Amino acid sequence: MDLKAVFFDMDGVLFDSMSNHAKAWCSAFSDLGIEFSAYDAYMREGMTGASTIRDAFTRQLGRDASEEECKRIYKVKSQYFESLPQALPMNHIMDVLRTVKSAGLDIFIVTGSGQLSLLDKLNHYFPDVFHREKMVTAFDVKRGKPDPEPYLMALKKGAYSANQAIVVENAPLGVKSAVSAGIFTVAVNTGILKDEELSGNGAGVVYHDMQELYNELPDIIRKSRREYR
Ligand code: MG
Repeated sequence: MDLKAVFFDMDGVLFDSMSNHAKAWCSAFSDLGIEFSAYDAYMREGMTGASTIRDAFTRQLGRDASEEECKRIYKVKSQYFESLPQALPMNHIMDVLRTVKSAGLDIFIVTGSGQLSLLDKLNHYFPDVFHREKMVTAFDVKRGKPDPEPYLMALKKGAYSANQAIVVENAPLGVKSAVSAGIFTVAVNTGILKDEELSGNGAGVVYHDMQELYNELPDIIRKSRREYR
């Protein structure tokens, strides 16, 4: 490896937002009498809203959801989500970001989120860490995770090759996306899933919170530099 950049996922990595997403999905499906557990929500993190809805319909109702149903249910999910208290940064994520920055590495964000005010929110909580040209969001991609597209786009935007980056992810489909792009992926299991869901999708290592990543990070960075023997 010849480490130059670290690509961060957002939900469940930068922000402790996954429990809110899971609650909102469970409520939206429960309104329709569709069984959908928090575990189901965590397993599908990173899928588009429409894919999540169509997947639940196929499994539970034995038919696909129409475009109109997808729109309507996603709107309900978003309303539930917005009624919950705003998610705060993950504990110790600022320590992680500072370590990466002070090592002289580039920082990218690669998220399926399509919030219009995303950069404002990031600048509010993490001043001077993220930049508009170093972000890949829902607006940049066609397929999204678990397709490698978003991480390949981050490599392209930064003019990096796969051996010059590492990814920090919390979700099975996010790990799959990053690994499919050929990038070494550090999983931090910040949610309720079994570790195997992350290692099984190709994560190089699985930690259990940001503090553990923070403790191991200097070693990861040292070993990923070209000069390391
Ligand atoms: Mg995530």
